[in-house]
Amino acid sequence: LSYYNVLEAETALLNLAAAFPAQADVVPLPNPTAEGRRSHALHLSTAPEAGRDAVVMIGGVHGDEWGSCEILLNLASDLLQAKALGSGLAYGPFGAKAFDVVDMDRLLEARDLILFPLVNPDGRRFSQDPESGDPQWRKNRNPKSSQGSSDRVGVDINRNFDFVFDLANFALGVGVSASVDSANGQYQGLFPHSEAESANVVWLLDRFEHAGWFIDLHSAGGVFQYAWHHDESQETQPGMNFRSVRANHQMGLSGAANYQEFLAAQDRAEMQRLAAEFANALAAVRGKVYGTGPGFGWGVYPGTSHDYAYSRHLSDSSKGKVLGFTCEWGRLEHRPDWAEMEKIIEDVSAGLIGFLLATLSK
Ligand SMILES: [Zn+2]
Repeated sequence: LSYYNVLEAETALLNLAAAFPAQADVVPLPNPTAEGRRSHALHLSTAPEAGRDAVVMIGGVHGDEWGSCEILLNLASDLLQAKALGSGLAYGPFGAKAFDVVDMDRLLEARDLILFPLVNPDGRRFSQDPESGDPQWRKNRNPKSSQGSSDRVGVDINRNFDFVFDLANFALGVGVSASVDSANGQYQGLFPHSEAESANVVWLLDRFEHAGWFIDLHSAGGVFQYAWHHDESQETQPGMNFRSVRANHQMGLSGAANYQEFLAAQDRAEMQRLAAEFANALAAVRGKVYGTGPGFGWGVYPGTSHDYAYSRHLSDSSKGKVLGFTCEWGRLEHRPDWAEMEKIIEDVSAGLIGFLLATLSK
């Protein structure tokens, strides 16, 4: 056993839906990738969709972070098998972290789960190509901004979302982790949602408008982050926010009084609570301790998926509120050897189930 290639990952998703036709269905994403691949999400339809709040989980946004895809496929498989067998689930040595059948039933009754394991199949394929590829390839493979140069191919999907996209928002010299230069690994693209991959994620959030939570799986770092990721948050000045400020060169500074992003106190508290539940369930598997906190604690990142997901209800009052999270699993490497990856899959699966159960007691 080892990591899936792109075809195996797609096949695994389709096979799961075929094996559990009453409990899972395939959601085809509308936008084909630059290399013409059609992506699919898996919808765990264990109960009628109506009246259930949804959780959208995505992985494989960065081509070289292979294991996120396997984590989500494993989680889907575990949940579907538990449902079919009428059993609980256990992770780690001697089932160190166990979830009983009552909790599993409660979860699958109350939550609509949507898993999109491989957002960027072109990037993964390129990073898995030993001949002409690059194992460290993180972007997609869109040649549009390449001017014919192979080292200018691709966009960083997790900088392409429609949230503080204009880098002139940021103070000079703060070290923003995004670039307008297509040769950069964190190239943001020509405009928000310019890429098929990010547009597919947006489509999923629109399609499942009853989504209340969003989790994007990445590596590495051993952290579980929530909004905001572009600046420090504050809870006392609602008027100081990304909608009221444009191109002011003030964002991204730590400890700056001139700009801090508003975050409602109850949302901050709830994101903090859920992140802690994730970390607690994960730690129970084999003692790995993940850090939790606002993304800004780890750097200045515009255009990320979790900030976009959370900002949607603020930019457009017709959209529901989605609490947004990013997990950076693993400590050091994007592609740990498979024996370690199998352990990380157990860690993060348990963390995610702990998170999902915690959404039931909001
Ligand atoms: Zn990543």
